[in-house]
Amino acid sequence: MKKQLRQENHQKIAIVTGGASGIGLSIARKFTNNGIYTIIIGRDKKKLDTAVDDMKPLAECIVCDLSQLNCISHFISEIMDKHHHIDILVNNAGINLKKSMIEVSDEEFQKIILTNLTSVFALSREVAKIMLKQKSGCILNISSMSAHYGLPKVIAYTASKAGIEGLTRGMAVELSPFGIRVNCIAPGFIRTEMSSSALDKDPERKQKVLSRTPMGKLGMPEDIAKAALFLVSDNASFITGTVLPVDGGNVIGF
Ligand code: NDP
Repeated sequence: MKKQLRQENHQKIAIVTGGASGIGLSIARKFTNNGIYTIIIGRDKKKLDTAVDDMKPLAECIVCDLSQLNCISHFISEIMDKHHHIDILVNNAGINLKKSMIEVSDEEFQKIILTNLTSVFALSREVAKIMLKQKSGCILNISSMSAHYGLPKVIAYTASKAGIEGLTRGMAVELSPFGIRVNCIAPGFIRTEMSSSALDKDPERKQKVLSRTPMGKLGMPEDIAKAALFLVSDNASFITGTVLPVDGGNVIGF
């Protein structure tokens, strides 16, 4: 009876990186609307504050450039001092670079890998240490269609997102025996600032995206948020190590 009461009173704590805009904001909103206290991470304080205002009282923000890897353990300690546990981590923050392969410098390639992949590993490792002590938790990564088929002019992004899917499987086999589920969503083409800047300037590419998406439209951030809530909930209690395309069928489109 006591245990049941404790479980009912347990306030779930989530971290959503890049939670002040686009897909991350939609995931954070979905979590707070479902009673999950959500800490959003980003670089732009103004954007973060606006998002938190919108989700009060179940949200707070931390300003951190995740590519500065040494900041990660500091903010995780801050979160633990205040909340004492972390139940959900969504690795959503990401950047893109649209350029022909031969024009991408080593520094540019490295920057994308650092933000989209190395920081995901570093943050997941720190959170996994806590989840292992708790013997519970969910980690959800966000990859991309670029990890599933060849997309021209996004070479560094593609490498980072293919890495995310490998990381998902690697973490899942190490952590799942201890009650921690690790999954990944591969969004199709979703209407956000990131995709608008990539697609609106390139009508031919946009047409190609739409023509190979059986549902014939771009997705909305809310479509990803609904799948995210499912994957971190008990409804997905036997699902780990999986990559779920949420893409209107884009990955199987002709
Ligand atoms: P947005 O550009 O809208 O959001 C990206 C978020 O990441 C921003 O909130 C940004 O916050 C944060 N961010 C970027 N770099 C850093 C950093 N160094 N440190 C901390 N935060 C950072 O993009 P989307 O919502 O479209 O994309 C979200 C995720 O979904 C990305 O991983 C993307 O690759 C993936 N995705 C998106 C698709 C789409 O069609 N939109 C398709 C497939 C995958 P700030 O500016 O405050 O730093």
